[in-house]
Amino acid sequence: MAILEMKGIKKRFSGEEILKGIDLSCKEGEVLSIIGPSGSGKSTLLRIATFLENADSGTIIYDGKTVFQREAQPESLRKGGDSIGWDTANRQQAKALFGLVFQNFNLFPHWTVLENIIDPLIHVQKKEKSFAVEKGRALLERMGLSDKEGQYPCSLSGGQKQRVAIARALALEPKILFFDEPTSALDPELTGEVLRLIRSLKDERMAMVIVTHEMNFAREISDEVLFMAEGEVLCRGSSEAVFTAENERLQSFLGKIQ
Ligand code: ADP
Ligand code: MG
Repeated sequence: MAILEMKGIKKRFSGEEILKGIDLSCKEGEVLSIIGPSGSGKSTLLRIATFLENADSGTIIYDGKTVFQREAQPESLRKGGDSIGWDTANRQQAKALFGLVFQNFNLFPHWTVLENIIDPLIHVQKKEKSFAVEKGRALLERMGLSDKEGQYPCSLSGGQKQRVAIARALALEPKILFFDEPTSALDPELTGEVLRLIRSLKDERMAMVIVTHEMNFAREISDEVLFMAEGEVLCRGSSEAVFTAENERLQSFLGKIQ
């Protein structure tokens, strides 16, 4: 069964159609990569999947439970304020299933590395501090960052910050992780350490949806690839099928990026 399924996702911003009906799904142990030019709606799609943004219409299902469903309606009918489409109970449950890692790390600058990791355990999952600290330390060890636990994010390299952000997401034991360009703020030599970590998560069968401009990485790690442009999926399939597809728009994109 798919951990996440999205069907017919549409979104407009100021009248402009940003997502024109996107379908995707991600099963346990599966890596789905989303590639495509800047402005094609990739981040908006991840923000909708992680409830940071409302879709105008479409369906979102986590673990077989519908968390959002809204029919496409003409603008004129929507004026009266139709239902917002969320199933509040399912949405709350689904929040425990995913983690999100951003391009810019999103760590709290005035908290230590360890505090950044244990905060959601204490405040979201309501765990005892001693339990959270133990878990946080184990994660830091795994990240090779045990000696950084008392330091503040500003003293870390970009690659280390991103590994802390990933540890923070992993602390909550998500079933699926979303990455929005996790290495695009990093120097090439720091990119490698983050990509290695993501590969190790795949080896542990973590389901992941990854928006990335690292084409070699996407090609190697993905079970499925979506190529998006202007709010539409133009190509989808196995990594081999998409990267060799004879789609002009895709080939022009790949030619520019490599
Ligand atoms: P990508 O991640 O593929 O670069 P985005 O999802 O960030 O694309 O953006 C797609 C389009 O939606 C862009 O034209 C962007 O300007 C627009 N957009 C994104 N978020 C907003 C917003 N909150 N308000 C208005 N327009 C937005
Ligand atoms: Mg983006």
